[in-house]
Amino acid sequence: MSSILLDAAARANRYSETLPARRAAPTPEAVAALDRLTGPISPEGMPEARVIAELDEIGGPAAVANAGGRYFGFVIGGGLPVSVAANWLAGAWNQNTAMEVMSPVGVRLEWTALEWIRDLVGLGPEVRGAFVTGDTVANCTALLAARQSVLESVGHDVARQGMSGAPPITVIVGEEVHISVLRAIALLGLGRDRVVRVPVDDQGRMVASRLPDLNGPTIVCTQAGNVNSGAFDPVPDICRAAHAAGAWVHVDGAFGLWARASPRYRGLAEGVDSADSWALDCHKWLNVPYDSGAVFVRNWAALRAAVATGPAPYLAGGETVEPYELVPEMSRRARGIDAWAALRHLGRAGVVDLVDRCCSHAQRFAQRLREAGFRILNDVVLNQVLVSFGDEATTRRVIAEVQQEGTCWCGGTVWHGTAAMRISVSSWATTRADVDRSADVMIRLARN
Ligand SMILES: *Cc1c(COP(=O)(O)O)cnc(C)c1O
Repeated sequence: MSSILLDAAARANRYSETLPARRAAPTPEAVAALDRLTGPISPEGMPEARVIAELDEIGGPAAVANAGGRYFGFVIGGGLPVSVAANWLAGAWNQNTAMEVMSPVGVRLEWTALEWIRDLVGLGPEVRGAFVTGDTVANCTALLAARQSVLESVGHDVARQGMSGAPPITVIVGEEVHISVLRAIALLGLGRDRVVRVPVDDQGRMVASRLPDLNGPTIVCTQAGNVNSGAFDPVPDICRAAHAAGAWVHVDGAFGLWARASPRYRGLAEGVDSADSWALDCHKWLNVPYDSGAVFVRNWAALRAAVATGPAPYLAGGETVEPYELVPEMSRRARGIDAWAALRHLGRAGVVDLVDRCCSHAQRFAQRLREAGFRILNDVVLNQVLVSFGDEATTRRVIAEVQQEGTCWCGGTVWHGTAAMRISVSSWATTRADVDRSADVMIRLARN
């Protein structure tokens, strides 16, 4: 057996064991020490064991401890141990999941994990999914299908004829659209500045009654889980108006779509399944290793047409759909195996518990901070909490001090013109004790 794999496993295990005692973000000294790993490539190379030792001893201390229980920055998952372990094993297999013949195990488990996810979040059996790097590319991929479909309906095959000379497409977004959707719109040649923005309410939800009149090829981009507040757009109302006009409705559900797995939180995303495409992340709330996102499309034939490749004799396939026919990539790692392992381990009950636990931790944060006299800016409906510690300067000071103190890590944001600290509870590893320890630090620093 190759001892380097065992060595790496032992080092990884030590890292995991020390996580509870680690700072949530590395010290500036640890980050500065990374200079020892950089510089010009060595002329003669280095023994394998030393490479791994250096990586562990110098790189490890500079890692952000988001695999631990007290990292609440952005919306970031923790990496379930069973999924990390499956990822290593599959890494050793080195599978390419472009086509089933290249990796029967990778492709079978990918389709299986996608069906499990589709069923957990309650999308119809006609919906087909695919793994991509994350929610940004999932949004892009869904919009490729949308663009193909809405132009097909006016007799233009954009995959073959291109955007030059194509009829214009109206793209509608909410005022608080995630920047990744705007990036997707730009990449697709739909023009970031051409979008029509619909006003939102106090929680950042698109106001369905303010949708413009819809006609011609139209794509409406909705959101399930506002990245600040966690709020959900009224997708069923938007779908009714949009579908009556033949428009395509996309849902950016990066983390919020997972609420549909839980009986307690499903109501927030009622009717989201009436849309046409959905993007979600597995590296966020499902807690699989980075990177992993999934796209789901009802009219997946439009997606297949959008990303179809010209004929290549060595790719000539059969009747079955291959993974590479539904995504922008050809060669790709076996992301499905990580997700399969997480879901195989958790089962339906485990996924529900993961969602419910994170949400109840968010409630606990809100309660502790409110009781301490600080203002919670959002309705805490899911796993996101926005807190103000007073005026703008005070809130900014507390965020900086929380980050520097190291017990936990939270980022800042601006919510409806007010500076806020954003707490996102998205990790399987977070315990009630982690929440209380972190809240204690926030409160102590804010009272200074
Ligand atoms: C995180 C997030 C994205 C971007 O996802 P990546 O996985 O980082 O590409 C898009 N939309 C929302 C709502 C998000 O939370």
